[in-house]
Amino acid sequence: MMNSQCFVEQTGTEELLERVGRYCAECFSEFVPGERIYYDMNDYRYLCGSCAETLSEKMDERCEIVEDEGGSLF
Ligand SMILES: [Zn+2]
Repeated sequence: MMNSQCFVEQTGTEELLERVGRYCAECFSEFVPGERIYYDMNDYRYLCGSCAETLSEKMDERCEIVEDEGGSLF
């Protein structure tokens, strides 16, 4: 289930893709015209559906990325 308040879902029309760029900011796959694309309001970038979904799973209700609990960098 998409945590959709963190993303603006848009249709990637030719016009829009022309303006925002044709590639997902995360996986760099090329958007297909007509595809649903997702604007990440936290990072000001466009993502494909699968990246938006993966990212939304890691987000809390304030759209902040929550890293796995228990893991420590140190
Ligand atoms: Zn992607």
